Amino acid sequence: MVHSTMMDHPLTVTQLLRHGARVHGEREVVTWLGDSARRVTFADTYERVERLAKALETLGIGHGDVVGTFCWNHQEHLEAYFAVPCMGAVLHTLNIRLFPDQLDFVIRDGGDKAIIVDDSLIGLLAQAPDALAEVEHVIVVGDGDASALDREVLRYDDLIEAQSPGYEWPELDESAAAMMCYTSGTTGNPKGVVYSHRSQWTHTFGAAAGGLDVGDGDRTLVIVPQFHANAWGLIYVCWAFGSDILQPAMFLQPEPLTAFIAAERPTFSAAVPTVWNGVLALGAQTEIDLSSLQTVVVGGAAVPRAMIEAFHDRYGIEIVQGWGMTETSPLGAMSTPPADVIDWDEQVDWRAKTGRIVPGVEMRIIDAETGTEQPWDGKAIGEIEVRGPWITAGYHGVEDPEKFHDGWLRTGDVGVIDPRGFMQIVDRVKDVIKSGGEWISTVDLENTIISHPDVTEAAVIGVPDEKWDERPLAVVVVREGAELTPHGLSEFLRDKVAKWWVPERWSFIDEVPKTSVGKYDKKVLRARHEAGELDIDRADG
Ligand code: ADP
Repeated sequence: MVHSTMMDHPLTVTQLLRHGARVHGEREVVTWLGDSARRVTFADTYERVERLAKALETLGIGHGDVVGTFCWNHQEHLEAYFAVPCMGAVLHTLNIRLFPDQLDFVIRDGGDKAIIVDDSLIGLLAQAPDALAEVEHVIVVGDGDASALDREVLRYDDLIEAQSPGYEWPELDESAAAMMCYTSGTTGNPKGVVYSHRSQWTHTFGAAAGGLDVGDGDRTLVIVPQFHANAWGLIYVCWAFGSDILQPAMFLQPEPLTAFIAAERPTFSAAVPTVWNGVLALGAQTEIDLSSLQTVVVGGAAVPRAMIEAFHDRYGIEIVQGWGMTETSPLGAMSTPPADVIDWDEQVDWRAKTGRIVPGVEMRIIDAETGTEQPWDGKAIGEIEVRGPWITAGYHGVEDPEKFHDGWLRTGDVGVIDPRGFMQIVDRVKDVIKSGGEWISTVDLENTIISHPDVTEAAVIGVPDEKWDERPLAVVVVREGAELTPHGLSEFLRDKVAKWWVPERWSFIDEVPKTSVGKYDKKVLRARHEAGELDIDRADG
């Protein structure tokens, strides 16, 4: 029997923290203030991280205690990303767009002992007074009015100033809890996923290898919120590999966001399709400068082919699609085309796939009826299951055996995988439409409708139908100033999708409702349809 001679060195966030501070100390964190930027080098940020850890310790935060953040992406939020886990506590990133009752639930369920909140978000946090009453310390970033909270608060700046740099980071077990994030809870209460140091460490390397491949020389604009699945891992990847980190704070609308891009010239960025849709719409009206951007990662929801083409054709930017879930830390797949695909038109076909499985994640397809594993032939369809070192094995405080299957996580996504390991999500299990026994992919149908130049948003839901059991209803947002008819749209689809996919029912609305993380909220659409609130036009064959 031969034993490994390797060190059994714990994989911790602390190691990433030290590495970035020492090796990339001159890189900077840039926070946008609306018309100017605040800059702090990694080396100075590290000292502030030490001070924050000391300050939290003084407040009685110890090993395993939970510290919430209710913040935009900015300097202080980044500091909490390191100080809290590295001192042995657990960072709970609270989604600022949750409904008050969900917010109340996650603060209690997480057991937050302290919460760091932006002064601009105090009004929102104040909507969960009962949960807040159980939180020992509220720490406000900024000097804005905090009276809406009706309690004593501490100021972040005061805490940092009261401390000196220098902190003895504890030796941590790599399996210790580091961070906690709740699923967006489209059904029932949100569920907590608790990441370990090891899962964050391994995810950082897997993400960097799998397509979030930024490094020294990059400037990464982190649009995806830090409260949404760890900003897709970008904070740790940038820190460890030495990319400048550009933080947009609250300036996420197309105008201020593009002003930030023009001024600070990021090379790389990441966000959900809704954000990029807004940027494209602005670019169609007025000149915007995106010339610094080389690669943009779009994920969290299916990326329309039309978006990939528009970014390339108008701005020379390459879109890479990413797939993941809160449960998967989140990165599971990225649509970086194989190296032998050189021609751009052919590349688009690959970029429009959901993504190639990243190293570290294992994936399989399970047939819904037989429960058997399906081949990777690009045709066999089933529910996608995953496992790996950064995939959750359960939820915080609740049993949910339905979500797991022999040690694999059931993603709730239905898709295919091709022989080169590219997966393509066809639908979510709960959104699938079965019309006369045949599947219609709402994802494909939406993307095809969106490729119409006068359509800005399209969501498809299944509605009951006497003849076919279920038929698609397409809910469409038309570009301002354009006019579209159901008949015209049906004609547009004719040669692009199977005949029986073409919807007879169309509804034109001003905006598709979105979830707290900016995805189409089909639950709300279904409810509106059931309540008879959607005007439906029919296309006559
Ligand atoms: P969060 O976005 O907060 O992680 P969820 O865990 O509910 O919220 O979202 C994960 C789901 O988002 C996936 O299971 C999948 O349905 C969808 N999703 C993510 N990325 C993509 C993508 N590139 N294409 C299609 N669907 C995606």
